Amino acid sequence: MPATPAIDWRLRAGELKLQTRAFIDGGYVDAASGETFDCISPVDGRVLARVAATDAADVDAAVAAARRAFVSGSWSGRSPSQRKRTLLKFAELIRDHREELALIETLDMGKPITDSLKVDMAAVVNCLRWYAEAIDKVYDEVAPTGPQALALITREPVGVVGAVVPWNFPLLMAMWKLAPALACGNSVVLKPSEKSPLTAIRVAELAVEAGIPAGVLNVLPGFGHTAGKALALHMDVDCLAFTGSTATGRLMLQYSGQSNMKRVWLECGGKSPNIVMADCADLERVARASAAAIFFNQGEMCSAGSRLIVEESIRDALLEKITAIGRTFVPGDPLDPQTRLGAIVDAPQLQTVMNYIESGRAEGARVALGGKRVREDSGGFYIEPTIFDGVTPQMKIAREEIFGPVLSTLTFKSAEEAVRIANDVDFGLVGAVWTRDVTTAHRMARAIRAGMVYVNCYDADDITVPFGGFKQSGNGRDKSLHALDKYTELKTTWIDLG
Ligand code: NAD
Repeated sequence: MPATPAIDWRLRAGELKLQTRAFIDGGYVDAASGETFDCISPVDGRVLARVAATDAADVDAAVAAARRAFVSGSWSGRSPSQRKRTLLKFAELIRDHREELALIETLDMGKPITDSLKVDMAAVVNCLRWYAEAIDKVYDEVAPTGPQALALITREPVGVVGAVVPWNFPLLMAMWKLAPALACGNSVVLKPSEKSPLTAIRVAELAVEAGIPAGVLNVLPGFGHTAGKALALHMDVDCLAFTGSTATGRLMLQYSGQSNMKRVWLECGGKSPNIVMADCADLERVARASAAAIFFNQGEMCSAGSRLIVEESIRDALLEKITAIGRTFVPGDPLDPQTRLGAIVDAPQLQTVMNYIESGRAEGARVALGGKRVREDSGGFYIEPTIFDGVTPQMKIAREEIFGPVLSTLTFKSAEEAVRIANDVDFGLVGAVWTRDVTTAHRMARAIRAGMVYVNCYDADDITVPFGGFKQSGNGRDKSLHALDKYTELKTTWIDLG
């Protein structure tokens, strides 16, 4: 068989036609104000597109369209198996357009094209297919009330879902909300991040092509403090599904309280501990996984293993290995399929990460690798993979989410101390422990206050398991059947048989 010709991503980038307008009630429209904002590519710092800057007026229009669609039953009234067929078609259309979508994602957000295509788009399609396939297999309940009554416990869609999502996995984070919300029969108004709005805008028309009725999926590009806030404060939004920073998550709770007490589901930040015991089985494997845990996606991952908490006796040996592997994550052109570390999403985020690197130095931690901005000539935003050694639990780089390729190394002498350090932050998204001892593994997995604990691995992933945080990492869970809880109301219907 002849080899598939390599894709010339630069050439394709030159030929791209981008959708840049809001998608309301089944069609693309300008923002009511006519305003746009510049969408800058982190790859080279150039303006990629001028995108509709929606605000409260557009939110009103989108929510009204979503409500009309919901009340009409055009989607909410379809049987689960009908919705399944349409969502499977939607998934196939996304799959057919995966190269275009991956390219848009990379240009918009800076991640390596190979990751956009093989990780993000593959996961987007899988997520949508999974919820489509699940929804006609979920049964409701009959309560064991006794012979004098029949009590049905049924799930109903909540109505209009507002989804506000971040930029680190732009389409995937959107799909973690859209797929279960749509499968349950809701209408959705999605606000992508202003830093990466383009793939969400593009898939909206694919949804309509697949047969999702007008008004059921609306996409509003725009800023958080305008469009996002208006959506979160809207009196006719029933549920707010948010992924983003803990600071914005707090605001979402306030907006709900100030408006209609809409349900608020938060998937927020992390500062995840990656604990390595001296008895771990394979230091080389630990090093590879630990490097990937912080350098994949430029470290712009909620679940990043940003705190390496290693038993003192093996610190030097492990650090040497991680540093060697870290050197192979060379920041490069995101459109080159060989690149493993792409661009940081924008200039402000680059500055934030550089400030943390500076603060680590100032507080006395030692830079074991990297620490500098690179590839400035490209016009884009690139930072070397960076490893700090000698970090103490009180330092800022041990406590705050950096959201960049920066690893903080801390040490411990006993398992109790490791757990104490692991839990001594505001976050509780994920954690990991590496040990050969099954008792230690179970004890520590129980003791780590996080929504997900990995044992002898990091970032293992499957749509079948819930994802979300303890503490200020949020509430509720994305993925798995548990996500359906966010997008449905429980109703009890009590029928007297007496
Ligand atoms: P962010 O909080 O700045 O923005 C997230 C979204 O909220 C964007 O769409 C933004 O426009 C909007 N927003 C901002 N201010 C708003 C306001 N006042 N009102 C309404 N909407 C507003 O976060 P970010 O920088 O886009 O994303 C990075 C964060 O996301 C990190 O903290 C990361 O850990 C977190 N994250 C969490 C998960 C998870 O599953 N727990 C997954 C991915 C990212």
